[in-house]
Parts: sequence; C-alpha cells; structure tokens
Amino acid sequence: MSGISMPPATVSPPLWLLAELTYRCPLHCVFCYNPLDYAEHRRELELDTDEWIDVLKQARALGAAQLGFSGGEPLVRDDLETLVGEARTLGFYTNLITSGVGLSDERLDRLKAAGLDHIQLSFQDSTQALNDFLSSTRTFELKKRTAASIKQHGFPMVMNCVLHRYNLPHVAKIIDMALAMGAEYLELANTQYYGWAHANRAQLLPTREQVAVAQAVVERYRDTIGDACKIFFVVPDYFERRPKRCMNGWGAVFLGIAPDGAALPCHAARGLPGLTFPSVKTSTLREIWYDSAAFNRFRGFDWMKEPCRSCDEKARDLGGCRCQAYLLTGDPADADPVCDKSPRHGEVVDVVRLAAVAAGAVHEQPILFRNDANSQTLATSHAKATQK
Ligand code: SF4
Ligand code: SF4
Repeated sequence: MSGISMPPATVSPPLWLLAELTYRCPLHCVFCYNPLDYAEHRRELELDTDEWIDVLKQARALGAAQLGFSGGEPLVRDDLETLVGEARTLGFYTNLITSGVGLSDERLDRLKAAGLDHIQLSFQDSTQALNDFLSSTRTFELKKRTAASIKQHGFPMVMNCVLHRYNLPHVAKIIDMALAMGAEYLELANTQYYGWAHANRAQLLPTREQVAVAQAVVERYRDTIGDACKIFFVVPDYFERRPKRCMNGWGAVFLGIAPDGAALPCHAARGLPGLTFPSVKTSTLREIWYDSAAFNRFRGFDWMKEPCRSCDEKARDLGGCRCQAYLLTGDPADADPVCDKSPRHGEVVDVVRLAAVAAGAVHEQPILFRNDANSQTLATSHAKATQK
C-alpha cells in the first residue's frame, strides 16, 4: 500500500472504519443502535458510490485497515459489491454486518468474487417466535437458510445475537444454534442502552440473576467446545462497578461514517448535544480525524471533570462512555455513572433494581419497534421539546 501519510505525534491514526451505508432496513429491531430519528435521514441524503469510494481511499491512506460495511442493512445498496471490490483493492480486511435479508446465493457469489473477507449475521433469538417478534418480521427461517449459504460459500462467519431480558434464558440454545451452523465466532452482545434500546430499556434490561446464570452457561460451553466456536460475552455495563474503555477511547482507533457522510467517533455519538459532527462532503478525513472540534472534544484527559480528573484509574477506562454519561446524567463530560465513584451511580443501581421489579410484573409497558412511523413521531416530539 502506498500513500499512507504519517500522523501527528500525539494522535494515532484510525484503525477501524465503519461504513454505515444506509439507515434503511427491512427489520424493526427493538434494540436497534441507529438514531431514534433515523427516518429523517432520507435515502437521497445518502453518500453515492463515488463518495463512498473516496471515503475508503482517504481512510486507507490515513492508515485504517479494518472495514465494516453496516447500516441499517447494507444489502439494500446495490453498489455493495462495487464498494467491497474497491476496499479489497485498497487492502482493507472487510466484514459485512448484516441481518441476512437480501443475501441470496447470487449476491454471495458476487461478494465472494469482489473479495469480501468475513460476514457477521445477526439473529434475535434461537426461537422463531422471539426472533420474529423482536424484529417484527418473519425472518428466522430465512436467516437459518442464509447461514447455511454463507458457510457453503466458504466465508468465516460471526453469529451475532443481542441479549436482553427476553432471550438471556435461551443462551444455551443460542450457542447450540451457532455450533450447528458452523459459526467460527459467536458474539453474545449484551444490549447497550443507546438509541432504540434506551427507549425500550424498561422492557429489555435483564435482572442481575439472569446475567449471572447466562455467564455461567457461557463458561460451561467454553470449557467443553474447545476451538469449535469462539464465544464473546461481556457483562453488560449496568451490572459492573467500573465502566469500559468505550471505543478504546474517543477518536482513538474508531472512525464511523454515517449514511449522509457525518463522521462519528462512535456510532451512537450522533445523539450527544453541543457537538457538530463534520461531514465527508465538506472536509477531508484527515481534517476530520486530526483537527475537528468533535473528534478532539473527549481526547486525552483535559476535558474530564471530577471525580475522573484526579482519579488514579483514568488511564484504564478514560472515564467510560460519553453517550452513557449523557443519557444517564444529561452531561456527556460527566463520569460514566456505571462507575461507583460517580455521584450518580445510585441511579444505575436504581435502574437495575427497577428492572427486577418490572421483570416480575404482569403488565409491561408497550415495546417500541424501530420503524419509520415511530422514528418520525420521536423526531417531531424531540424538535418540539428543543424549541421550548
Ligand atoms: S438492529 Fe435490526 S433494525 Fe437495526 S439495523 Fe440492525 S437489523 Fe436493522
Ligand atoms: S472516576 Fe472516572 S476515571 Fe475513575 S474509575 Fe470512575 S469513570 Fe474511571
């Protein structure tokens, strides 16, 4: 690869590019990580093929090596194969992150020919009933057929399943399903409470006991299945006493590009107030990564308030997640309240306690599906609230 330019000494180059090609998706997952107002980001605002190719070239020149094609559902873009081929030529390791809807044998052939390296296929559960309920689609059988086709085409496969109160009791069956499908990796992704998952937190948050039981099941499988499938399971933040080093640091290794070209240091960052995220339509990636106010806002330690500023653990977790701090305290510069040194930690404890009560309740709040009508309603009410 030629043309990789040297970064300034204090900021490392991005390593991982996430290309969110579109917010369009045939599924309606209740935990979707897309913004609540995604429906406002219309198709005609999406970057076109040439603009995406330019993004790929710039990112590779900056030093990015891993590339995820994501969405929404990236397969709704009929230029996906062109972008994969370009990425391959540039030397990226490419991963397709998909619901499987639209991944026909013909498209698998074309993606293989274009040089796609890896596929991550999502399931919502090991049962048809829950898979189809949570996505508000009849996709379970199709996903199973797609998993078989992915393996027949010789792709390494990650099976991804987002975990929450409803499917944590099914973890053993989910692992069995991944093994039966021949998935090399299983990502048991405990729900992160941003976007639609935050809106549905009262319905989705599990009990501490559910998490502990599922973790024990995972450990048992890890001890017995050897190298057959590598299982990722990370305890959800709300059940910890220290936050995670979110995105390995703001503007440290991750660069996300939203469908309309907004550049994001984390795919949930769009919901943070007071930040204008630069667009690849008006700035180069180099300017965005090294010089933009948004990417520099939470780099290093100077932005920190107490208790993080004087904390002897700050280099380990960098104060946790900025989106989680904002959603729980209203200030993205606060310590992530998952940390028990945060004066707001009691609120996380309360949310977990209330989840245990809600899990035993006969009547639950209605769940909010990710769809255009709900997105438009939420965008309108948010606009009204901010005008007041
Ligand atoms: S989480 Fe579900 S609705 Fe959201 S982009 Fe993924 S498949 Fe689509
Ligand atoms: S106070 Fe801040 S830096 Fe210290 S452990 Fe908690 S979140 Fe991390």
